[in-house]
Amino acid sequence: MNYLDIYQTYRKKIKAYDYALWLISWDQETEAPERSNDYASNQLEVLASAQYDLEMAEERLEAINHLYDQINDLNDEIKIEIKKVKKSIDRLLKIPKESYIDYQVLLSKSSKVWAEAKHNNDFESFLPTLEKIVEFNRLVVKLYETDTLKGYDVLLDMYEDEMGIKEYDQFFDTLKENLVPFVLEKTKKKPKFNRALTRNKFSIEGQRAFSKYLLDVFSYDLKKGVLKESVHPFTSGVSSTDTRITTAYHEDNLISSIFSTIHEMGHAIYEQQVNESYDETLLNGGTSMGIHESQSRLYENMIGRSYEFWAQHYPKLQEIFKKELKKVTLDEFYAYVNGVSRGLIRIEADELTYSLHVMIRYEIEKQLFNGKLKVKDLPKTWNKLYRKYLGVTPKTDTEGVLQDIHWAGGSFGYFPTYALGTAYAAQIYHAMNQDIDIAKAISSNQIHLINEWSKEKIHQFGGLKTPKEIMLIATKEPFDPHYYVNYLIEKYKVILKD
Ligand SMILES: [Zn+2]
Repeated sequence: MNYLDIYQTYRKKIKAYDYALWLISWDQETEAPERSNDYASNQLEVLASAQYDLEMAEERLEAINHLYDQINDLNDEIKIEIKKVKKSIDRLLKIPKESYIDYQVLLSKSSKVWAEAKHNNDFESFLPTLEKIVEFNRLVVKLYETDTLKGYDVLLDMYEDEMGIKEYDQFFDTLKENLVPFVLEKTKKKPKFNRALTRNKFSIEGQRAFSKYLLDVFSYDLKKGVLKESVHPFTSGVSSTDTRITTAYHEDNLISSIFSTIHEMGHAIYEQQVNESYDETLLNGGTSMGIHESQSRLYENMIGRSYEFWAQHYPKLQEIFKKELKKVTLDEFYAYVNGVSRGLIRIEADELTYSLHVMIRYEIEKQLFNGKLKVKDLPKTWNKLYRKYLGVTPKTDTEGVLQDIHWAGGSFGYFPTYALGTAYAAQIYHAMNQDIDIAKAISSNQIHLINEWSKEKIHQFGGLKTPKEIMLIATKEPFDPHYYVNYLIEKYKVILKD
């Protein structure tokens, strides 16, 4: 067998493990009965360890090294795949096995410690765990540093290729300069909405019917996906022919499930439209966290929160909630889905202020990994930055530094991709509008035109192109955050006019 055959034989087996592991996790998050958890995690452990042995098999590593040496003789697809695999294996081999195992054990317990600390508003009880997690990530930074990647850059690069401190600083500086003053000015008053929207209860059954209707509106392909329910909405895909989403219904909040469903559909339609021949390779799925988030945000915000969208679909919602929405006009509903306020919680943030929540986390992580901030000082710094950029101060750490699970899971460098993706979305939207009349596509119930454009310019490539290449193909220019700032200011100048 030649090296390519060996590599591909291993890949086939690894993919089969991936599939089994993925199905178990999906089941645990959605349908599995409560008591099944221990049994399931025992099986997960066995499968994950067998998969690890396959990945690190001598024969496989040898094949990868040989293929890497002859990289220019390979076709484009396999060339890119081998580069990615080689990079991740080289990195894994750099970490001492003992530290790696200690860290895995630490992570397996940390989310519980975090959840309790959050529940009890007790940062001190989470501090020792968080210090160890940060310490391990500082070690990772040391081990992975190269001539071009230093410090926090190493972590940023793990989530978004070729995005480091320099690029993110430019991005967030643009927000600080142009967006922060606008937000602080426009959010002085608390918004008022029709009380029927904020006081009524909306049946889960009715919300389910509307989410089902939305699947159709966006042409989410039910032959290649499903919609289920989970505590936190998410998308999970294993191939272009199987990409699933969840949403969460709340009786006291009509729009939460609507925008979760649309957001996750944005993620899922991306993966469903990747070139099907990549399913057996490692190029399936999206290319980066940022580009992935650009797709969910484009669907959620630019389409789902547009006036054209609700002019078209509000009657259906009113038909489902006849009594509850009888006295709510289209304009009142539109104002409600675009309401903005100075909030404390990132996942509840509106479209206008969302990226500022992310910017605060970026500043903190940067200081943490460039040596200027101690873990124990996180709450103080957190509160100071919230005051500065959002004009609010958390009263507790529960609604402050303890609100997100990411750091407990060892994810540093991940947060910035949320804001970056949202900003990519505005630039992609602008470019798309040159080719198709988006407002008209939405008004005439032809969102499939948007899907088709996205497939051609973004989705089909899967992991074949880098985020930078995707931006060039889709928008014909490099990433420029001004599209995002301009989009927000133009939109909210009108909505918040008095
Ligand atoms: Zn998302």
